Amino acid sequence: MSEVSNLLEKAYQTNELAKFEIIYLLESITPADREVLYNYALKTKQAYYGDKIYLRGLIEFSNYCRQDCLYCGLRASNAQVKRYRLTPEEILGCCAQGYELGYRTFVLQSGEDLWYTDGMLVALMQEIKKRYPEAAITLSIGERRRETYQSLFMAGADRFLMRHETAAKELYKKLHPTMLFENRRACLSALKDIGYQVGAGFMVGLPGQTSADLAEDLRYLIELRPDMVGIGPFIPHSETPLGIKKGGTAEDTLVMVALARLLIPESLLPATTALGTLHPQGRELALKAGANVLMPIITPTSVRKQYALYENKICGDDQPQDCQYCIERRIQAAGFEVDPGRGDSLQYECKSR
Ligand code: SAH
Repeated sequence: MSEVSNLLEKAYQTNELAKFEIIYLLESITPADREVLYNYALKTKQAYYGDKIYLRGLIEFSNYCRQDCLYCGLRASNAQVKRYRLTPEEILGCCAQGYELGYRTFVLQSGEDLWYTDGMLVALMQEIKKRYPEAAITLSIGERRRETYQSLFMAGADRFLMRHETAAKELYKKLHPTMLFENRRACLSALKDIGYQVGAGFMVGLPGQTSADLAEDLRYLIELRPDMVGIGPFIPHSETPLGIKKGGTAEDTLVMVALARLLIPESLLPATTALGTLHPQGRELALKAGANVLMPIITPTSVRKQYALYENKICGDDQPQDCQYCIERRIQAAGFEVDPGRGDSLQYECKSR
């Protein structure tokens, strides 16, 4: 047996790999090894979560952003973006439509847009919870003060997605001229401490990113133990400073998803829209490599294309019901089942018992 086979077996049996082992694996893995890895990840997912796939209705409610991340199409310096904001009433309308379609988690995502004051967001959380007490609310609105996170949690927000983006400090600094590496991590710790189910995660194939950097991403996640881990390929956007760089590949992303399943086995792992954009079967392949969450977009069709983190994002002309139909069919065709519930993480369910 090759060294890589031994490492894959070790990861499968023990859910543990050291940083140097991950680096070796990433640099030596062959296509045949990859199939073995995906299979182990699938078995691990089945052992923890069965064949159920959880759905989240994604509402991209504002594309205004005060930050200037080099990779992101919504960065403040991109003057080409036609900016939009949904009003609280419009967001509630999206929730109503999502609820009708059967979703029991609403993900409210935006650029960092302080137009939505703490008070507005608190009132919105309360209203969503009043209307849909059995649904979970996930926020993905970037960095705010700890007190804000606290009051939003008290008002009914259950979960918070904030990718750490990259655990390599120097790379993080280059990509985020308006943000601090330490602050991102402090936000993630604060969110966890407050009691949110937390989603961290990173991009694969960032310019300058090394195998050691990706190994560091996994080691950071092993320590943080988030409830969810979002992993997607970097896709260049032409109106950004990284527009002419190479993007990440579907293969490399799938390897990272599968390794995340082996090393943080109890976490929820989305098959990301970015992976679906890069490869027509990207999300199905992710489901077969350990992912167990899909996020159908329920943003109004009129503004969807303006939420362009990267270009050619799929589903831009679709209506929410199209996405529901398409995604449910893909899940079934891949051999899995849609779970109708809120889909909490196992870590959370253990804690709340
Ligand atoms: N403002 C929020 C939401 C960010 S958008 C926050 O700070 O958390 C959601 C995710 O899209 C980001 O965390 C980033 O990982 C990803 N993203 C942004 N630009 C991208 C690109 N060009 N290619 C792939 N993913 C990208």
